[in-house]
Amino acid sequence: MNEVIGRVVGFEKQVFPDQSALYSKLAADGQSPKALMISCADSRVVPEHIIQAQPGDLFVCRNAGNIVPPFSTQNGGVSSTVEYAVAALGVRDIIVCGHSDCGAMKALMNPEMLNGMPNVAAWLRHSHAAESVVKGGYPDMENGDAVRAASLENVVVQLAHLRTHPSVTAAISRGDVALHGWFVDISAGMVLGLDGETGRFVPIRDDRPLPVALPAAKRIASEHHGLEAAE
Ligand code: ZN
Repeated sequence: MNEVIGRVVGFEKQVFPDQSALYSKLAADGQSPKALMISCADSRVVPEHIIQAQPGDLFVCRNAGNIVPPFSTQNGGVSSTVEYAVAALGVRDIIVCGHSDCGAMKALMNPEMLNGMPNVAAWLRHSHAAESVVKGGYPDMENGDAVRAASLENVVVQLAHLRTHPSVTAAISRGDVALHGWFVDISAGMVLGLDGETGRFVPIRDDRPLPVALPAAKRIASEHHGLEAAE
């Protein structure tokens, strides 16, 4: 048996018995994960590993490039996962998590790599705004740095796409959901977080507040303008 997938036999023999109390509680009570993480499918970026999550802690959606297509009437896996996490499970935090050395972002910046991969090419259209920001904003950047910049800008773009989803926008307006943009540097073992106030990524440290892309706060447009709701 394949040495990696063969480890599945250990779940029934060891992993499940070791966590039997947790699993029986989750089986009886159902799940109530506190956060949704949308991360790249890259095998080196493991959401549960990064935040030391236990079963039941984290709702996860992974795909090439940690992409959230903007809301459309067309059905999609990411859109449905986001909607379920927010509307049915009531997650309080949504994290979009990119990373260094990302194959999707390399392909975004070097489209010749996409020969023979029409689906990936089409999927990466949802990241073209990040490519435009980097090519326009940093025209002289060398390729390696440009890929890193695109990975950071892509997190910002996907957070903007999240806000086009009605379920997310409604939860944000009620003050029920905060948005987070993370970047895992897999060579440094460091996680950067997007500070929405400055628009910059800063290292996440335990001696300072967690950087937040969009803090949870009630955001009703008419209140901001001092207008009363229509009677
Ligand atoms: Zn990646």
